[in-house]
Amino acid sequence: MRVVLLGPPGAGKGTQAQIIAGRLGAPAISTGDIFRANVSGKTELGLQAKSYMDAGDLVPDEITVAMVKDRLAQTDAKGGFLLDGFPRTIAQAEQLRDSLRELGHGLDCVLEMVVDEDELVRRLSGRRVLVDGEWAQRDDDKPETVRHRLQVYREQTAPLSGWYETEGLLTRIDAIGAVEEVTERAMDALAACGGTRPDGPDAG
Ligand code: AMP
Repeated sequence: MRVVLLGPPGAGKGTQAQIIAGRLGAPAISTGDIFRANVSGKTELGLQAKSYMDAGDLVPDEITVAMVKDRLAQTDAKGGFLLDGFPRTIAQAEQLRDSLRELGHGLDCVLEMVVDEDELVRRLSGRRVLVDGEWAQRDDDKPETVRHRLQVYREQTAPLSGWYETEGLLTRIDAIGAVEEVTERAMDALAACGGTRPDGPDAG
């Protein structure tokens, strides 16, 4: 299946992407993770992306789309993928649609994880990640940057929800609750897109 996971920062996309991708037997592709790996590795791409990321802004579409095209061209993504954190603008969504179309493909499903904003601020401010074996706050999870990232989401990414709805691809799921509960809702939603539970007995 070719799936996009949509939702604001703090909705639990990264966690769900890993679990769902495992069940689908397809790679979870997180643009945020790819950017962070490039920043750590001090690559040219990392240097280009770093200042935008630190400010909580989006990395320009041109850079991001080229990176995703490269990633989707790799063998493991040929049969399906789960995109986490991409697309984040209508222009990115259009370019994704066009490049899949060139390959004779299309998305099967866009899942939007819905969480209200108070809960997001609470989650992001308390979120810790492992850095060199120590639990630390991500630079872009600092309270000021969190507010800015949510604003960027509202302005640039939230419109994708309506755009994908018009394309007939969108399913919204309630992303509040235990991780396993949210996964079950996601798998049921994917079944509704694809006809059967992709991890069920008929999967293949
Ligand atoms: P994430 O881990 O998905 O929250 O992404 C962390 C940061 O990486 C974002 O705040 C952006 O600066 C950058 N980023 C990730 N995905 C994209 C994207 N699709 N378009 C532009 N910037 C992105």
